[in-house]
Amino acid sequence: MIYKLSNKRIVVKFGGSSIGNSFKEALQLVLKLYEGNEVVVVLSALKGVTDALLYLAESKDESTIEEIAEKHERLANKSGIDLNSAEILLAELEQVLRNEKNFPNKKAFIDHILSFGERLSVNLFVNALKNLGIESEAVDAFHIIRTDNSFGNAKVDFSETAKRVKVLEDLLKQNKVPVVTGFLGGYKSFRTTLGRGGSDYTATILGSLLEARAVLIMSDVKGIYTADPKIVRDAKLLPFASYEEVLTASMLGMKALHERAIEPVKGKIPIILGKTNNRRLGTLISKINAGMPILTYKIINENFASIGIVGVNEVNFNAQIYKRGRNWICFLVRREELENTLNAVHEVIFQ
Ligand code: ASP
Ligand code: MG
Repeated sequence: MIYKLSNKRIVVKFGGSSIGNSFKEALQLVLKLYEGNEVVVVLSALKGVTDALLYLAESKDESTIEEIAEKHERLANKSGIDLNSAEILLAELEQVLRNEKNFPNKKAFIDHILSFGERLSVNLFVNALKNLGIESEAVDAFHIIRTDNSFGNAKVDFSETAKRVKVLEDLLKQNKVPVVTGFLGGYKSFRTTLGRGGSDYTATILGSLLEARAVLIMSDVKGIYTADPKIVRDAKLLPFASYEEVLTASMLGMKALHERAIEPVKGKIPIILGKTNNRRLGTLISKINAGMPILTYKIINENFASIGIVGVNEVNFNAQIYKRGRNWICFLVRREELENTLNAVHEVIFQ
């Protein structure tokens, strides 16, 4: 089901694992949203590509470029997309790889190499939209999201970025769908990245500056669960969660949303998490509380992990409390006991 949204501007982000094999479902959602709204799309790199580029930057093993090329080629062939401009990008990647000496440091070089992941996926997606008769334009976030020079985890300069979102507004006025590279930023003439998983953050930065009605974060899971559903069999989907709760859960290790993604929209714009496949919307993040605890975990080192519980400040079982806040607690477990303890705690809380 697609929620009916009254305001016309929507930012929708697609994660790499939900577009890695096919654009079909993502394109259908964009088409649906485009019927009555102004739509800005934010894309991640295809699944596995950022990791491959990271390996490439370290190893300089050029066969990796071929693997990346093939991955995009398969998708392009499947969707009847023209690959010309992607080939230009791949040739550029090869050039940059041979010129590390032009960068101020290794991290700046790595960020430039990583940028090709999102630039390639955006390139294909724009072509796919054009094939469907939708006017669309690739937007390289390098020109819009301006940052400091903390390569690998850059800090956003919001006032400079605010001046530059006009580019997107102009495209929207022309009824075009801007497709923006997630995760990427720019510092002077250098490329930066916003931290792994940073495309969520790109989406909420743009949502906030464009005063969007909502930011949709579409991935391969439906939304936020009472615990990681890959570990806890009985985890339940949360239809609602508050900005505060999600912020705390992210801080305590929850991976459903990038840690910094809440901050730009907090208290102002709802985030809706959904699954690209079937276009199911799962969790609304707004001022409304989950009304249920959220269980999280974080690996601390090879021996220990921490388990967080958001939405409580006491537990009625024996636990070595590690840290606590007004509305959460956190305790330590041995790593080999993590999965069992998560399941056991979940059972106790939701019995
Ligand atoms: N492609 C980047 C990553 O894999 C950013 C993202 O997917 O959000 O971390
Ligand atoms: Mg993610």
